[in-house]
Amino acid sequence: MPYDVLTDDQREIRELVRTLARERIAPRAAEIDASHEFPWDVVELFREHEVFGLFFEERYGGTGTGTLLALVAIEEVSKVCATSGLILAVQALGSLGLVLGGSDEQCERYLPRLASGEWLAAYALTEAGSGSDSAAMRTEARRDDGEYVLNGSKRFITNAAVASLYTVFAKTDPSKRHAGISAFLVESDAPGFEVARLEPKMGISGSTTGELTFTDCRVPEANRLGSEGEGFRLAMRILDHSRAGVGAQALGIAQGATDYALEYAKTRETMGKPIAEHQLIAAKLADMETACEAARGLLYRFGQMADAGVPDAELTKASAMAKLFCADTAMWVTTEAVQILGGYGYIREYPLERMMRDAKITQIYEGTNEIQRLVIAREMVREQRAFLLAGVS
Ligand SMILES: Cc1cc2nc3c(=O)[nH]c(=O)nc-3n(C[C@H](O)[C@H](O)[C@H](O)COP(=O)(O)OP(=O)(O)OC[C@H]3O[C@@H](n4cnc5c(N)ncnc54)[C@H](O)[C@@H]3O)c2cc1C
Repeated sequence: MPYDVLTDDQREIRELVRTLARERIAPRAAEIDASHEFPWDVVELFREHEVFGLFFEERYGGTGTGTLLALVAIEEVSKVCATSGLILAVQALGSLGLVLGGSDEQCERYLPRLASGEWLAAYALTEAGSGSDSAAMRTEARRDDGEYVLNGSKRFITNAAVASLYTVFAKTDPSKRHAGISAFLVESDAPGFEVARLEPKMGISGSTTGELTFTDCRVPEANRLGSEGEGFRLAMRILDHSRAGVGAQALGIAQGATDYALEYAKTRETMGKPIAEHQLIAAKLADMETACEAARGLLYRFGQMADAGVPDAELTKASAMAKLFCADTAMWVTTEAVQILGGYGYIREYPLERMMRDAKITQIYEGTNEIQRLVIAREMVREQRAFLLAGVS
């Protein structure tokens, strides 16, 4: 058996997810992409097989099996369908505010419904005028008689209109930047909350991406996550944990594209032999496989660090590196895979053009890859490293 970092128990769960992906999700992937409809049947499949539970602790109805296995599940599903992989990644993203910053009461109220998948979750940070510069947000939350009144809007929110619970960031003190932001749990039936529109887009077509509006939207004070002014710190802590999920989605896309291109190259013949035996194609396949394995090394290392309880401060750089490298790998590998299929790579009958479109978003959301590079460099500058070359002339 090939070397594997997973334990026997973890492998068993991976096998279950892999089988669901291969037998139930793969045959739906092209249709989900073409229809641009949210795949509720895939949500139902995840509910039936308790796949959402992989992201939660046992006391809230989850499996308590940890981060590494959760990433592996996203990777396996994304190999065949990036939209379906994203359903898992966003369930984690939308729940992490509770997991990291929720009171016992808030966790008990919401996490069991998220762990079973009865409710889907979303994370609403971005606004039309503030993406990378999230501290420039303009949505406000004013305290009024035991409630908060939210006014403003959020843009590009994954799971808009399908989520029942939104983690929303808003300014409780608009005179401040980072320090004026607080986090709130907003239920989809809150008065004054609306999904104003859904965006047609390049890839991950079955996933909803929408604009949320808050018009005198009233939220109980008990739904504030943490203290006033702590929202920005929580938003960044959430991303430190969740962006590895985007890395897992990206790695799944990259490995799926590599596997598909390999099978094709073994059977497609030109000039009297399979194209896999032409050295230029063989080199592409070798580089694609190597990039996937290197990306997996960074991603799984992050999962192992999180499971070992490494402090959050150390996770920042590890998750940024995993997300950056997996996403760049997905974009590059899918482009090469399309090239290996030649004209067939470019047409809809084959899955690679979808994989290439799906790969692009992984370089953009949960912090663009430019922002990941800034984060990694900032952490490097902060590190206290022994400089072995100090004496070298
Ligand atoms: C399909 C989709 C789903 C999404 N889902 C969610 C979600 O669920 N929740 C949510 O809150 N957001 C979500 N987003 C928003 C996403 O995270 C932002 O689009 C992203 O962070 C970039 O913000 P922006 O689009 O405003 O680009 P900008 O911040 O305007 O950036 C534009 C360009 O400038 C670069 N740039 C910006 N600042 C710097 C800098 N300091 N140094 C170097 N380069 C810089 C960026 O890398 C980018 O290339 C989603 C977006 C999409 C498209």
